[in-house]
Amino acid sequence: MAGSGSESGTGPGARTPKVGVLALQGDVREHLLVLGELGAEAVPVRRESELDAVEGLVIPGGESSVMDKLSRLFGLREPLRRRIAEGMPVYGTCAGLIMLADRVANPIEGQQTLGGLDVTVRRNAFGSQVESFETEIVMPELGERPFHAVFIRAPSIESAGPGATVLGALPDGRGVAVEQGNLLGTSFHPEMTDDYRFHERFLERVRARKAAAA
Ligand code: GLN
Repeated sequence: MAGSGSESGTGPGARTPKVGVLALQGDVREHLLVLGELGAEAVPVRRESELDAVEGLVIPGGESSVMDKLSRLFGLREPLRRRIAEGMPVYGTCAGLIMLADRVANPIEGQQTLGGLDVTVRRNAFGSQVESFETEIVMPELGERPFHAVFIRAPSIESAGPGATVLGALPDGRGVAVEQGNLLGTSFHPEMTDDYRFHERFLERVRARKAAAA
């Protein structure tokens, strides 16, 4: 059905967003699969020309200090910072959230972030004795259904400035999901479950921005 979807905005065609997953290190493949399942064209991003071609970006989990070093080595740091400043939608999970944070409470020596989210995060916040855990979190902004969240050596959001909205927190008050403008970050890994509400929220931003620019 040629042309179908471009008017309704639901099918393939003009509104299929092209999004990237930063593929320097970490769980890239899982995000590519989720984004594809949700109707986006999803590609790995390792170089500036690939970044230039996408309308939104997921920064996956992995190791934030390594991702930071590789982003500088690959000449991606400044292009990434520029796209973030221009308002490109970005969703960071775990190490990706750390990359988007303006401040890290316990960076390794010389570790930098891209920034954008007015938050302070703490790496490996849940201690080495609890490397990973899973729990249900209610996040009203995402609907009534609690979110089954998987944490792996996860960061917490220690504090958030006025521009950032904490969407979800653990019972002890530590933030684990945050949003600010077109930026979205979670301490946990939705790509490892089958609840893709965060990926959908990210793609909604990408589609809205694409429609506004059309
Ligand atoms: N502990 C890692 C870091 O500092 C994050 C772990 C993860 O992404 N699963 O970057």
